[in-house]
Amino acid sequence: MDNLALACRCGTISGRAIKVYPHHGTRVVCYCKDCQSFAQAIAAAQATLDAYGGTDIYQLPAARVQIHRGLEQVRCLRLSEKGLYRWYAGCCNTPIANTLAPRMPLVGLIHTFISDPAAEDKTGPVRARVNLAGATGDIPRDLVRSAPAKGYVRKLLFKILQWKLSGQSRPNPFFTGNQPICKPEIHTKTRDQ
Ligand SMILES: [Zn+2]
Ligand SMILES: [Zn+2]
Repeated sequence: MDNLALACRCGTISGRAIKVYPHHGTRVVCYCKDCQSFAQAIAAAQATLDAYGGTDIYQLPAARVQIHRGLEQVRCLRLSEKGLYRWYAGCCNTPIANTLAPRMPLVGLIHTFISDPAAEDKTGPVRARVNLAGATGDIPRDLVRSAPAKGYVRKLLFKILQWKLSGQSRPNPFFTGNQPICKPEIHTKTRDQ
């Protein structure tokens, strides 16, 4: 168990994730087009996406994410009215995290917001590579084999349920009650490009 330091690139927004367990890690790389569109929409694709268009995400319950400084700089973008809430830093366009509906405990911290020098040891290895159909290139087989997508959704739903039942939906740094802390911008322009 350990704390994981979080900060945007320019340092205006910072905080930490608590109780990060490497052996129960929930780190995934998502290759979906929406994650790519988000990074592109805020001109952060180069810093965010891997060689195959993947976004490295560490998933944890909302109550374990704390933002201590710069909350007023946090911005929200959605790719459709019902899309994920995609959070980023207004100060320097660093992708921060993805969240589901306000009552759902899940926060997917994007690697760009993890500033901890020991992040690799603390979060553990990538457990699953998902939405491979959206990849922008051929992902090497050994990478896929070492982190198979199979069973990922079932495991994640089970974790979300456990987190919800153990009261880890709140506090959620990105919502006040059921309201997002800032008005989401709906951004549809870069889809399918
Ligand atoms: Zn910043
Ligand atoms: Zn995705």
